[in-house]
Amino acid sequence: ESHSESASEVHHSPLAPIPEVTTVGNVQLQVIDENQNFSPKLTHYMKNVWNLGEVGFNYNLVAVFGSQSTGKSTLLNALFSTEFDTMTDFSRQQTTRGLWMSLAKNSNTLVMDVEGVDGRERGEDQDFERKSALFSMAVAQVVLVNLWENQVGLYNGANIGLLKTVFEVNLELFQQKGKGKTLLLFVIRDYLGKVPLSHLSQTLKQDLQKAWAELAKPKGLEGCAITDFFDFMFFGLPHRILLAEDFDEQVQVLGQCFYDSQHPNYVFRPQYHKRIPADGLQRYSESIWEQIVKDKNLDLPTQQQLLAQFRCDEIAAALFDKLVEEFKPHREAADAGVLIEDLGNNFTTLKDKALADFDAQAGRYHAEVYQKKRTGLSSKIDDYFHVYFKSQLSVLSKDALTFFSSHLKNGMCQADYDFVRLTKEATEKAKHDFTAGAAKLSQGFKWSHSKEERDLDRELAEHVASCRRSELAKLEGKLAISALDHFEEDLPSLLSFPQQGMWEEVLMSFAKAAEEASLAMKTRAEAFELSPDEVRSRVADVRVRTWEVLISKIKEEVASDAMLLSKLRQSLEAQFRYDADGLPRVWLPDDDIDVHFKNGKAEALDLLPLLSRIDISSKPVDFQTYFAYAHRNLDFKKSLILASQSRQADLEQRFKRESDALYLEAKRSIVATSAK
Ligand code: GDP
Ligand code: MG
Repeated sequence: ESHSESASEVHHSPLAPIPEVTTVGNVQLQVIDENQNFSPKLTHYMKNVWNLGEVGFNYNLVAVFGSQSTGKSTLLNALFSTEFDTMTDFSRQQTTRGLWMSLAKNSNTLVMDVEGVDGRERGEDQDFERKSALFSMAVAQVVLVNLWENQVGLYNGANIGLLKTVFEVNLELFQQKGKGKTLLLFVIRDYLGKVPLSHLSQTLKQDLQKAWAELAKPKGLEGCAITDFFDFMFFGLPHRILLAEDFDEQVQVLGQCFYDSQHPNYVFRPQYHKRIPADGLQRYSESIWEQIVKDKNLDLPTQQQLLAQFRCDEIAAALFDKLVEEFKPHREAADAGVLIEDLGNNFTTLKDKALADFDAQAGRYHAEVYQKKRTGLSSKIDDYFHVYFKSQLSVLSKDALTFFSSHLKNGMCQADYDFVRLTKEATEKAKHDFTAGAAKLSQGFKWSHSKEERDLDRELAEHVASCRRSELAKLEGKLAISALDHFEEDLPSLLSFPQQGMWEEVLMSFAKAAEEASLAMKTRAEAFELSPDEVRSRVADVRVRTWEVLISKIKEEVASDAMLLSKLRQSLEAQFRYDADGLPRVWLPDDDIDVHFKNGKAEALDLLPLLSRIDISSKPVDFQTYFAYAHRNLDFKKSLILASQSRQADLEQRFKRESDALYLEAKRSIVATSAK
């Protein structure tokens, strides 16, 4: 009935091309034989038996996974019209162990069936099951996972345990993230339809997630998800004998997913294709198989080893939960941002206890597995505590900063504090508290706090810098005020009776004040440990500031037109209304009022340009270099101008008009005298 490879051998020499193949789907090849040898004839079959030699990527590969005698071969034959050996209901057929490959009827789909040794108890059986499953995942787009409905939810019964080991080795051997996925199509056999399929698939998905979470992931793939490598589909098939018609119908339904590329659940999506050109399938899959056979991790996953994995995982999970529970009181405080005395000790005690319990409970299991799981538990605990270590570090740095600020604030309340010494002291103490706290937290763990320490250093330095800035600004303000005191003393007398040469005196007053301020700044700057460049800039700033004070003081004196005019009027009056001895003039008819008036007016008007511009020609200081290096902006040229040209012209007009009144008054007084 069915054609095994040896059966076809009878008719054709493997080297001679097979002239005509009529029942293509029925011819099958034992790709891997009972002694785990890979068949050298795959290429020949691809080319000459299945006509796939030239198709490139245009073919599909589907494989099957599941316990013995769960109707796998029956399902494949029904779906793809293949003729894999099945165990009939009446006689136990002597099927040959190995992996078999055949072509689905009327398509480019290669189908692989696995045939193991009966009896699940034998470790040897699982070894082959595992190797063939690995092989299937590495080469097939779709792996049918065949199981009974009543196996769903039985972690072991549903083959999840075995799948887990296969996933683990698969990851180790073949996978990089983003390399493409494999579709796992779970076919739930003898599906009664009472429990919704969505429930069953939910249960299976949870089991798969759990298995995935537990498996040891290779370096670089620690955080990967099962869905990075696998997609899932679920299908329920009724009992083949009791519900024969329904079974056939549902097989048809499922078949659509394989044959109809427009079907929404079409299984051969491009992302599942392993991109092995048809003519390279022999070499590629042969080397995959070689790797699988050679890998010593794959050697006989004895029941013992599997058992060890399950038990160690269970024990570790329980102990971890216990540790989390015991940590709860601390956790609540830690989450609230409180610094917990002795938390580091608690970490160590809880971890040591969990590991000691693990040793006691799991130590008798398979040594290698036990060690691996112990390491796993240890690093899981580390990860868990590390989160709290980090959050406590931030509490520590916050405390350090608070201490620093208040220490500084208190110190600066003292009358004659030494800024540098004070900040140094506060910085050192804050840092010491932080590092001591961090070291205490991480004792027994290899956690680093260097990043947080650097951050703290930076924040402290920033704090010191900003304190220094504000202190210097305060000092600058103080110096400006003392400059103002000088100016208030000198300026009014100079400016009330303006005269030529007055600016020289004003500038001398400025130079005196600015030098005094510069010196004070230089002296204080030393206490702030400023660099020579910074000192130079600060000194220049103080000079600019002093200059600004001077300018604003001068401008006060000449701010309004009325003030300026009154200065002019005073000058004219001093000339015209008073004599050389300062006595009020009484005009006599012979007096030449016109000449007196003209001279007085001209002299007063000379004051206008004098008061409109600060004259720096006397140069008591070299302004060029005096303000260089200042941080503060100063438009020096503009600062010299007190009244604009147009304002001067306007004032001149107004002054002339006002002075005319004085002239008339004088004239009238003569008339009055002479009339007596
Ligand atoms: P395989 O070892 O997984 O390939 O299983 P087979 O296809 O050889 O079938 C094993 C046994 O299960 C045979 O006696 C089949 O008649 C029987 N069988 C096949 N399909 C079904 C099914 O849907 N339900 C049940 N209960 N038995 C089935
Ligand atoms: Mg079978």
